[in-house]
Amino acid sequence: MRKGEVKTIELTGQNVLAMRDAQSAHAAGATQVRVCERCVITPSARDFLRQNEIELVIGPGTVVAASTRPGSAASPVQATRSPANPRLFSTPEAEAIKLEICAVGRKLWNRGYVDGNGGNISYRIGPNEVLCTPTLFSKLDLTPADLCLVDLDGVQIAGTKPRTSEIFLHLEIYKAVPEAKAAVHCHPPHATAYAITGRVPPNGIIPEFEVFVGKVAVSPYETPGTAAFAQTVIPYVREHNTVLLSNHGIICWADTVTHAEWYAEVVDTYCHTLILASQLGVPISQISERQTTDLLAIKKKLGLPDSRFDPAAMKECQLSDMEAPNSIALLPCKRDGATSITADAPEMDRLVKTVTDAVMSAMGAS
Ligand SMILES: [Zn+2]
Repeated sequence: MRKGEVKTIELTGQNVLAMRDAQSAHAAGATQVRVCERCVITPSARDFLRQNEIELVIGPGTVVAASTRPGSAASPVQATRSPANPRLFSTPEAEAIKLEICAVGRKLWNRGYVDGNGGNISYRIGPNEVLCTPTLFSKLDLTPADLCLVDLDGVQIAGTKPRTSEIFLHLEIYKAVPEAKAAVHCHPPHATAYAITGRVPPNGIIPEFEVFVGKVAVSPYETPGTAAFAQTVIPYVREHNTVLLSNHGIICWADTVTHAEWYAEVVDTYCHTLILASQLGVPISQISERQTTDLLAIKKKLGLPDSRFDPAAMKECQLSDMEAPNSIALLPCKRDGATSITADAPEMDRLVKTVTDAVMSAMGAS
C-alpha cells in the first residue's frame, strides 16, 4: 500500500468492537475502521487502534479516534465529545436529583448495603455530565452539597468534595448503555455472598425477581477503582441491569436512581430468601417454563433488559476482550424421592397480575 493511502475496514454490522476485531483490522493493513452508531467499543480495542494510528469512524463519517502520535495533545475521543457543562450541577433538575441521591444513600445505609464509606451512586444528567457521590463518605450522611459532577472521562467539573474513585465503573455503563441514566453500586451481604462464590442465583423461583432483575451476570474480579475493574462489566451491562462483581458487591443501572436502588433490594432479598430456603432441607418450588415466559413478556413490555429475550444477542455481548464468567447456578437442593412443587395456574396468574400492577404503578409514579 502506498504511503498516505487510506484503507477502511467496514465493521458496521457489529454491535461490539473488541480487541480481536482491532487486531484483525491491523493485520489486514487498515488505516480506518468504520462501525455503526450503536457499536460499543471496548477500551482495549480503542487503545489498540489509537496506538496503531488506526482511525475509528462512527457511522457515515465522524472520526472519533484519529491516529495520535506519542506526545500529541488531547485524545481525539475527548475532542469529539461535547464539552462538559459545569452549569448542569446547579439546575433545578440537578437539585432534585441530588435530593434523590441522598435519599437513596440513606436507604442503602439503613438496609446494611453500604458499610463504612462503601458504595456509590450516580446519575447521568447530560450527554457528558454525571452527578455522583464523593469518595470516603458514609451514604447515611450525604447532603446535596457533598455531591460532585464529572464528565464521561471521570474528570471532576463541579463540587467541592473529590468524586468517588469507583465512578469509572458507572461511566463504562453509561458509555455502553444509552438507556442507563442512573447507577447504584453497593455491597449487600446476601447478593455479595453469591458474588464471592462466583455464582449467580437460579431463575424461575420468585416473580418479582424475574420481572425487575431476572438473570444476573457475574463479572471477574479486578482491583476496585482501577480502569480494569470498571471494564469488567462491559460485556454484561447491555443484557443485565444487575451485575454481581466477583469478591466485591453489585452494580445496578436503571432509568432513575430510585429504580436502580430497587433492583439492589430485589436482588439482595432474593439471594437472602434462597439462602434461607436452602437451609430448610426440602426442595424449592419452581415456576414452570410457560409461567416464566409470561413474566418475561411483562418485562419486555416494560423495556427492562434480559439476556433471555434474544439468545443471539447474548452471544453477541460475549464478543469482548473479557473471559466468560463462571456463571454456575446454585441449584435448589433436591432429595431422593422428593418432587418439586409448581405453583398452580390461578395462583401464578394472581402473582403475575400483582407484579404487573406494582410495576405499572411504579413506572407511572416516576
Ligand atoms: Zn465497592
